Amino acid sequence: MKTKVAFIGLTSCKGCFFEFLLIGKKLETILDNIEIVNFRMLKDFKKKGNYDITFMDGAVSTKNQIKILRDVRKRTKFLIAFGTCACSGGIPMIRNSVKNYRKTVYDKEVRRNSLDTVTPLNSHVKVDYYMRGCPINENEVIEVSMDLIAGKKPREKDYCVCVECKKNGTKCLFKEGKVCYGPVTYAGCNAPCPSVGTPCDGCRGPLPDGNRGAEIDLLKERGISEDDIKTVLSRYSGEVKK
Ligand code: SF4
Ligand code: SF4
Ligand code: SF4
Repeated sequence: MKTKVAFIGLTSCKGCFFEFLLIGKKLETILDNIEIVNFRMLKDFKKKGNYDITFMDGAVSTKNQIKILRDVRKRTKFLIAFGTCACSGGIPMIRNSVKNYRKTVYDKEVRRNSLDTVTPLNSHVKVDYYMRGCPINENEVIEVSMDLIAGKKPREKDYCVCVECKKNGTKCLFKEGKVCYGPVTYAGCNAPCPSVGTPCDGCRGPLPDGNRGAEIDLLKERGISEDDIKTVLSRYSGEVKK
């Protein structure tokens, strides 16, 4: 029997779903083994059922989304927080630090349903795997899907992007004086940005045991203000900038 897979979205830019659709030929390695049973960006699947895997993108920003999320959790064996918005709140969560955003941005109707604060999925339900990245990484989608199809529990990478640079033999951009957030960012993307000369922007979110203090001190020595550093670090972390 094929693995039943759903793609369900909350508040996001949908970039992670587009990234999935753009994977192209590599998708063939999993498509024979899965049946997509819910994915609004492909078609309107009418039937509601149970899912083996759900890729859920976006953060929770409305009352209705809490209901949707809880319902999906009940019907899903393995729930994947798909992308940084779902994992840590990401870009949608920036609004938590903007004063009076609801009044300024939304009309009455939207305000009625919207929540005071945006939260990631794990504020409401148990998440089985965090697929980080803004957007997600295609190789991770394939690897994790293959593991699940084979009945294996996928392992998350709990080290920083620098480890992947070292493995790939990529020249360190930090050492060249560039501003790179790789030392405090979750790995798992295989460090594609430094490999083409672009410093890591931290899009997979902050590693809990990353040495943030040391990163901030080093960047301050390079003339970057603490406020600017914290603004960057807040973008994908879901934190309110202090
Ligand atoms: S993680 Fe980034 S690319 Fe993915 S849905 Fe959120 S904002 Fe868009
Ligand atoms: S380029 Fe950035 S991510 Fe890569 S090793 Fe240097 S500091 Fe770490
Ligand atoms: S290197 Fe950094 S910015 Fe680039 S994909 Fe990885 S985590 Fe994101």
